[in-house]
Amino acid sequence: MKRSTIWILTVVMAIALLGLLAMQIVYLEKMVNMRNSQFSEIVMRSMYNVSTMLEQNETKYFLDKDLAEAEQSYSGIVQNSFSFNDPYDAPIDTTLNTEDPAKLRPANRNTLKDLNDSYQQKQEILKGQYLYQKSLLNEVILTILNHSSDRPIQERADSATVESYLRSELEFNGLTLPFEFAIESRANGIVYKTNGYSPMSQEDIYRQTLFPNDPKNKQNTLCVTFPNKSDYIFSSVKFLVPSLIFTFLLLGVFLYTISVAFKQKKLVEIKNDFINNMTHEFKTPISSISIAAQMLNDDSVRKSPEMLKHVSTVINDETKRLRFQVEKVLQLSLFDRKSGTVRLEEEDANANIYSVINTFNLKVEKYGGHITANLDAEDPIVNVDRMHFTNVIFNLLDNAIKYRREDVPLELVVSTINPDDDHIQITVADNGIGMKREDLKKIFEKFYRVSTGNRHDVKGFGLGLAYVQKMIDLFGGSIRAESEVNRGSKFIITLPLYK
Ligand code: ADP
Repeated sequence: MKRSTIWILTVVMAIALLGLLAMQIVYLEKMVNMRNSQFSEIVMRSMYNVSTMLEQNETKYFLDKDLAEAEQSYSGIVQNSFSFNDPYDAPIDTTLNTEDPAKLRPANRNTLKDLNDSYQQKQEILKGQYLYQKSLLNEVILTILNHSSDRPIQERADSATVESYLRSELEFNGLTLPFEFAIESRANGIVYKTNGYSPMSQEDIYRQTLFPNDPKNKQNTLCVTFPNKSDYIFSSVKFLVPSLIFTFLLLGVFLYTISVAFKQKKLVEIKNDFINNMTHEFKTPISSISIAAQMLNDDSVRKSPEMLKHVSTVINDETKRLRFQVEKVLQLSLFDRKSGTVRLEEEDANANIYSVINTFNLKVEKYGGHITANLDAEDPIVNVDRMHFTNVIFNLLDNAIKYRREDVPLELVVSTINPDDDHIQITVADNGIGMKREDLKKIFEKFYRVSTGNRHDVKGFGLGLAYVQKMIDLFGGSIRAESEVNRGSKFIITLPLYK
C-alpha cells in the first residue's frame, strides 16, 4: 500500500470516528440535560402541590377555628332573624266546618295557598342561610389574610407533614429518590432542616415559596435537595456508556492498526534499503577475492613470497568483511523468528570478549584510540549462543567506534565482574558523543536512531541495539545503558552464569 493511501485512509477513518464520538458525546449531553429538566419539572410540580396542600390545610384550620367562634356569636342573631315555623310541619285541616261559611271552601284550595306560603318562607330561609355562610366565610378569609402569617411557620408547615406530603407527591410523580429539605424564612434564614440537608451549591437546591400571599418580609421558602441526584441522572443515561466505550475501543484499535501499518511500511523500506546496501557491500569483497584468485591462477604473474602474502591478506580481509555483512543480514532476519533460532551452550565470556577485542584493537588504534580490557570475572562461564554473543559484543564495540568524538582519542573500557555467585556483569564504556536522557530510553527500539547533529553521517539502520537486547533477553539476561552527552556511554549487560 502506498504511503499516501495509508494517509488518506487514516484521515477518512479519523474524521468518521471523531465525528461518531462527537455525536455520541453531544447526544449524551442532550440526554443528561433532558433528564435534568424532567427531574426539575417533577420536583417543582411536586413542591407546588405540597405548597397548595399546606395552604388548604391552613384554610381548613382557620375555617374550623372561626366557624366555632362565629357560630357562637352569630347564633342569637340568626335565631332571631331567621326563626320560623316550618309550614310542612303544620297539620292540614281536612274537616268540613258547617258553621263558618267561609270555611266551606274545599279543603284542597286551602292547602295550595299554604304550600305557596311555605315555599316562599323556605326561599327566605335559604337566602338567610346563604348570607350567614357567606359572612362566615368572609370572616374566615379576612382572618387568613390578616393573621395567618402571624402563626409560626413550624406550626403552619410542620416537618412531619411537609415530609409526608413531599414524599407522597414525589412518589406519585414517579420519583423515589431520597431527599432532604429545609424551611427558610426571608427574615431569619433556615428555620428547620432535616439532618442530611447540606447542599454543595445553590444550584442543587429546589425552591418553592410557601403561602405566597404572606407579606413579602414574612415569606418562607421550602428548599429541597437530592443527595443522589447525579447518580440518578447518570443511571438513566448509562445505557449509552457501552457505546462510548466501543467507540473508544474502535479508536484505539484504529490508531494501533495505523501505527502498525506505518511501522510495517517503514520496515519494508528499511529492509529494501538494507538489502540494496548489502548487495552493494557484497560486490566489493567478492570482486576483490575474485581478482586475487585470478592473480593466483595467472601463470604470467610471478608468485613471490611477498606477493602471495599480500594476496592472502587481501583474501583474508575481504572474507572477514563478507562474513560481517552476512552476519548483519542474519541479524536482521532474526527479528522475525522465535527463540528457537538460538542454541544455548556453555561459553567462556572472558575468552569470547577477549577475542572480539583483539579483532577491534587495530581498528581502534587506527583512530588513535585504545581499548582497556578488565576481564576480572572469576566465573565467566555463561549459557549463550556463541555466535550471537560475539555479535552482541561486536555491535557494542562497533557503536563505540561509530559514535566516538572526533576531537579526543577514543578510550574504550571493557570489563567483566561477578556481582554475585549467579551472574556476570559485562560493561562496555566509551568516551564518545554520548546521548540525551530522552534518547537513552528509546535506543533499544527497532529502527530508532539518534539524530545527533554532527554524527548523522554515520551509517546505520537503528537495528544494532535492538538486536543486542533481543539476544540478551534470549540468554535470560538484561541490558541497560547510561550516558552523558559529550562524556560517553556505558552499556551494562547482566547474564546468568552457566550452572
Ligand atoms: P545504528 O548504530 O545502526 O544507528 P543502533 O541500534 O546500534 O543503530 O543504535 C541506535 C542509536 O543509539 C544510534 O543511532 C546512536 O545514536 C545511539 N548509540 C548507540 N551506541 C552509542 C554509543 N556508544 N555512543 C553514543 N550513541 C550511541
